[in-house]
Amino acid sequence: MPEIHQSRRELARRRVAALGADAALITAGVNVRYLTGLASSNAALLLPSDGEPLLATDSRYAGTAARDCPDLPLLVEREAELALAREALRRRMPALAFEAQEVTVERHQALAGLGDGALRLVPLGRVVEDLRMVKDEAELELLAKACAITGEAFLAVLGSIRPGVTERECAIALERAMIDLGAEAPAFDSIVASGPNGAIPHHVPGTRAFEPGDLVTIDCGARFGGYHADMTRTVAVGEPAGWQREIHEVTREAQAAGIAAARPGADVGDVDAAARDRIAAAGYGENFSHGLGHGVGLQVHEAPTIGYGRTGTLRERVPITIEPGVYLPGLGGVRIEDTLVVRAGAGAAGPAQPLTTITRELLVL
Ligand code: ZN
Ligand code: ZN
Repeated sequence: MPEIHQSRRELARRRVAALGADAALITAGVNVRYLTGLASSNAALLLPSDGEPLLATDSRYAGTAARDCPDLPLLVEREAELALAREALRRRMPALAFEAQEVTVERHQALAGLGDGALRLVPLGRVVEDLRMVKDEAELELLAKACAITGEAFLAVLGSIRPGVTERECAIALERAMIDLGAEAPAFDSIVASGPNGAIPHHVPGTRAFEPGDLVTIDCGARFGGYHADMTRTVAVGEPAGWQREIHEVTREAQAAGIAAARPGADVGDVDAAARDRIAAAGYGENFSHGLGHGVGLQVHEAPTIGYGRTGTLRERVPITIEPGVYLPGLGGVRIEDTLVVRAGAGAAGPAQPLTTITRELLVL
């Protein structure tokens, strides 16, 4: 898909020019991948505001770069970043924009020391992250596939959620199922939180065995083609108690309100409030302690952040999660999370198109 990457570089190039920089040095791995198609743990891109871009990577990735980025000149260097900064000097491009959110102090010092301090280093800002937020249809297809695998894997392990099975065993079975179904890897470390552990939003699965009367929260996702799915369901082991049904219902209603508010043009703070207000109205305001959602794509957490006090506007073709929860310390908790794409008029349930489609009703196992 060299044309896609070329048009992405053109959009980024215009932003570099608007900044008044001679070139940008792109060093964040996912940003290099987004602009070139090369997935590498050691690659960088020199993107001049006027002139030909240059990709650099080490010999381990040289063949892959030649295959995946045939339209880009390639520099094979172990120290890709420094080599490109020297190239900027050689081309008389001293005003070099760098990714301040990614470059360490140590690496910044190395760049600043080149050519007796001849480079003028200016922060690029989150230019590429911004471009990455709105996805093209090819990206959404990869994300939809990652979400489909996630749902299938979840259904495949439901049978193993029964008394005596441990959180860890369940998490391993889930990740194995995702790989078997075609995932490159899990998108992140799966969360399986049972009984009182369910009150910890990011509990690490341990040796606790499921017991009758537990709520079990499973937060998982598959990675496919570089794109990350993210889904959470809370299920009941045996007949749930009244309070368990209640917090599940409150969370489900809050999620529906959040999804309904996730329209093109909506302010992210308002989307968060739509869900948060429902939880607060039910008396559990103190028990929903995290943000409502986040963008997903080449990273599992990326822009936009949908949270209390956040600002920003949702746009069409932005995939996000909506993931309210209610956590009762010492007792347990519920979280329901889906990955959705913001669309104008996507369906009956609301404007957002769900990519994870497992039922949101409380499953009693
Ligand atoms: Zn999640
Ligand atoms: Zn999430």
